[in-house]
Amino acid sequence: MSIPKETNAAVLVAYNQPLEVRSIKIPQPEPRAAIVRVEASTMCGTDVHIYRGEYANSGLSKLPLIPGHEIVGRIVALGSERKVDALNRPLAEGDLVAWAYAWCGQCYWCTVAKQPTACERARMYGWGCADEPPYITGGFSEYAYVMPECSMVKVPDGLDPALAASGTCAFRTIVHGYEKIGRIDSSDTVVIQGSGPVGLYALAYAIQSGARQTVVIGAPDSRLAIAKKWGADLVFDIANSKTSDRREQILSITDGRGADMVVECSGANPAFVEGMDLLRRGGRYLVIGAADPKPVEVHATYFNLRQLTVAGTMSGDISHYYKALNFLADHQYRFSFTDILGSKNSLNEVGNALDALESMREMKPIIIP
Ligand SMILES: [Zn+2]
Ligand SMILES: [Zn+2]
Repeated sequence: MSIPKETNAAVLVAYNQPLEVRSIKIPQPEPRAAIVRVEASTMCGTDVHIYRGEYANSGLSKLPLIPGHEIVGRIVALGSERKVDALNRPLAEGDLVAWAYAWCGQCYWCTVAKQPTACERARMYGWGCADEPPYITGGFSEYAYVMPECSMVKVPDGLDPALAASGTCAFRTIVHGYEKIGRIDSSDTVVIQGSGPVGLYALAYAIQSGARQTVVIGAPDSRLAIAKKWGADLVFDIANSKTSDRREQILSITDGRGADMVVECSGANPAFVEGMDLLRRGGRYLVIGAADPKPVEVHATYFNLRQLTVAGTMSGDISHYYKALNFLADHQYRFSFTDILGSKNSLNEVGNALDALESMREMKPIIIP
């Protein structure tokens, strides 16, 4: 298949300003790289933070940038040495694939700690910089460049591309988190804080893993309705319930002990304080959503006297992408995952999608370049 010389892409040229659809050069793939035709991208809350310039000072985002880090695409060109995916399955033009961030594979974090998500030389697509080769790494573009260090997996058959894209950020992070905090037992009560895509995916995973009871604390009502539909035993609207009442009810459904596991997917500092209080003695707390740079006060004694285990993760390696995509494909008839998806938008409509996400009208707007 021949590759066009240029691609249209939605480019963030200045923070808080409308994105511009520009024509950008498509480079020839390096030996281990690939070029894909983007089938679908979905928008993440992080894209709004990037758009607002919240990561500009830390140097994480660089203008001009093509946003979009939840992407699936069809291979149109493979570098001469990119022949198989991360599971050694042959790759060919036309295959629908997802890919992880580019970790260097040669540093302490990648090789000794075996935590590539902590790699200090990571290159994350969707964060910039569209004026440096290979230019087109973000997903809000007709074509995208898969960097040589990015491990790829094929998207399972029968999975909607937009749904698959939505699994490549929120869900792979959840899979990574549950892997770190340890298995869910059939006697466990799991409390999920947050009812956005991360919280809902965390709920589905907890139910499918055999949790005895699941509780979701979140908002608004429409999202809690999805949680109920998917099988949450108890939901609390954060706006219409008191912290003390939530704790009392969770104690009452756990014979006065508290939750065996709490999963923080809300990003709000008060959630962390509440979560520590909802755990039983010896309970486990998985922190995934925390986003507030301000510190919170915690009782240090909880860690030893109550023998808590607290773990945090971010992002995920290719194994988590693989597991997330397969989970979505395998269980899409038990959980109506597409409830999470929002409107379909062209490259010209990225602004609408940002607005829909920020105003909480939609959870996961789709970009079809
Ligand atoms: Zn994301
Ligand atoms: Zn590294």
